[in-house]
Amino acid sequence: MKLLLIGEYKENKFFDAAYDLFAFAEKMNAEKIMFAVGSDSDIPKFKGKLYLSDSEKFSEYAPDLHKKLIHKVIEKENPDYIVFLHSSYGWDLAPRIAASYKISVISEVVDVADGIFVRPICNSKLRVNIKSSTEKSVLTVQSGAFGYDINDGDQPEVEKIDTDDVGSKYIFKEYEEAADTGVDLSKAEIIVSVGRGIGKKDNLATIEALAKTIGAELGASRPVVDAEWLDASRQVGMSGQTVAPKLYISCGISGSIQHLAGMKKSEYIVAINTDKDAPIGDEADVLVISDVNQFVPALTKRLQK
Ligand SMILES: Cc1cc2nc3c(=O)[nH]c(=O)nc-3n(C[C@H](O)[C@H](O)[C@H](O)COP(=O)(O)OP(=O)(O)OC[C@H]3O[C@@H](n4cnc5c(N)ncnc54)[C@H](O)[C@@H]3O)c2cc1C
Repeated sequence: MKLLLIGEYKENKFFDAAYDLFAFAEKMNAEKIMFAVGSDSDIPKFKGKLYLSDSEKFSEYAPDLHKKLIHKVIEKENPDYIVFLHSSYGWDLAPRIAASYKISVISEVVDVADGIFVRPICNSKLRVNIKSSTEKSVLTVQSGAFGYDINDGDQPEVEKIDTDDVGSKYIFKEYEEAADTGVDLSKAEIIVSVGRGIGKKDNLATIEALAKTIGAELGASRPVVDAEWLDASRQVGMSGQTVAPKLYISCGISGSIQHLAGMKKSEYIVAINTDKDAPIGDEADVLVISDVNQFVPALTKRLQK
């Protein structure tokens, strides 16, 4: 079994989330072979082989050109799976590679066992098991689903990949920062995060009281933002902010992969949930099995004493 992992760079820095791909390779029991268009000023730390193309020459975003470079590595390595992150870069390139070889693409993989890949459907309410019907396959892997594999001591063997074909239909202009949301949760030391489990907007007041008592910022899961109980700037997760506070208290949050992707690097996680089997329990240092609307006011009262 051979994987070709496709890494990513942004402004000459290796994109941190791509370390998840090494964790995926571990899970697949495969050696680590990566291709990336980037810079040798920031080589990812892993034991294996890195095929590196120069982003000065090939741009960090030129999917048609990058496809050709990936073809070269595929011809050298003949991998069984070509594995992208489920990122905007992966969404763009993965189908191009799959179409060029007429092979299947399985997107947003969150688990795998015995060649069967698991991906969420229906806004993550259901999961489907998929087996590829082609000899090779392209995968995109959900960030946070397989962990994060980094070891400072490791250095890959680096081989440069070049081509004289530098014409791209795309001209990369610049990265544009997302609009300033006003709330920068990434700098917060304590976050109290609200999930759908609080039941209704009226119950927010008790959670806000806890946050105020311990000097925390308020965070939220996506359904809370979708229901307009809190502003979108407070959303934590894959499509919200990525946070790493000293203490993260989750209140009625199930712990979907998309939410975990944004908060799994928190130093200490306390989860309050009525369901002892909620996935957040696997990440939490402490799981309080309780009704959040009863537990939080009692906790706040105690802390205020
Ligand atoms: C492309 C994409 C991107 C996404 N991005 C994000 C993102 O950035 N952030 C994000 O959060 N989600 C994101 N999602 C949505 C994600 O898949 C989940 O649907 C969402 O995280 C669930 O939010 P939740 O845990 O609040 O709600 P639910 O999954 O409904 O969980 C509610 C939890 O509360 C518990 N509960 C119920 N009542 C109580 C009570 N009285 N006391 C205590 N516990 C109680 C339940 O047991 C349950 O575990 C994304 C989805 C997709 C498809």
